[in-house]
Amino acid sequence: MAAVARLFRSSSSAVSFIRRSLSTEAAAELRSQSYSPRVDPKARNVQWVFLGCPGVGKGTYASRLSALLGVPHIATGDLVREELSSSGPLSKQLTEIVNQGKLVSDEIIINLLSKRLEMGEAKAESGFILDGFPRTVRQAEILDEVTDIDLVVNLKLPENVLLEKCLGRRICSQCGKNFNVASINVRGENGNPDISMAPLLPPSDCVPKLITRSDDTEPIVKERLRIYNEKSQPVEEYYRRHGKLLEFDLPGGIPESWPKLLEALNLDENEDKQCAAA
Ligand code: AMP
Repeated sequence: MAAVARLFRSSSSAVSFIRRSLSTEAAAELRSQSYSPRVDPKARNVQWVFLGCPGVGKGTYASRLSALLGVPHIATGDLVREELSSSGPLSKQLTEIVNQGKLVSDEIIINLLSKRLEMGEAKAESGFILDGFPRTVRQAEILDEVTDIDLVVNLKLPENVLLEKCLGRRICSQCGKNFNVASINVRGENGNPDISMAPLLPPSDCVPKLITRSDDTEPIVKERLRIYNEKSQPVEEYYRRHGKLLEFDLPGGIPESWPKLLEALNLDENEDKQCAAA
């Protein structure tokens, strides 16, 4: 822990740590010189960020796009859950923070992300779709100091739908897949369309192994939504100002939303191999 603390004493050391971890050409360029635009942005894979409230479906759509584009889907929430289920030194502290619906410190999260990127570098991964990071403006600034983000997709759903989705979420403890037992039918307010989402039920093999996330209870979800509005909504504004934000109102469940998202991203699922260049 002392080494991590030293690393984060100044943000510049955090920046250099992430910079060392990135495998992209942009990062290589940053390593050798001060910040400047890449010579050829088409020479590397996409570097996208997925923003959105808890339960909106960032993980679902980011993982589908990651399979389509051949880039890793990196969810900082997953990194936190891996760490808290280990018997590592951070485990107890993280469990408390997550179960209060609070955010983990920038220092801890950047350390977990840096380790994940280093692991990816060893496997020659290129590009990424980040899910759940950045969650504060400071995290967004640090990310911008180390690499270029091409696009930020902001997924949106009304708050009452988010709560129902979080309460209906189930995870198979064996295969790790996400399901949802909620059947959602919400009337649109203020001129917004109605939203219906059919449950996403697990196959019979997964049924006896389903678990609920410990932070998917009503009071904790409400606190996570409050924290999102306070700490993460300014991140949307940050990327809006930088001209990188693509707003996407989910029209319903996966069958309605996925084709529309592909259309918004100018992607075609039926092409043999998508060009994953930025
Ligand atoms: P998620 O699965 O994205 O909802 O994340 C689960 C929990 O992990 C959050 O409620 C936070 O406590 C923590 N977490 C995940 N990503 C971050 C982040 N970028 N910054 C701070 N805390 C995070």
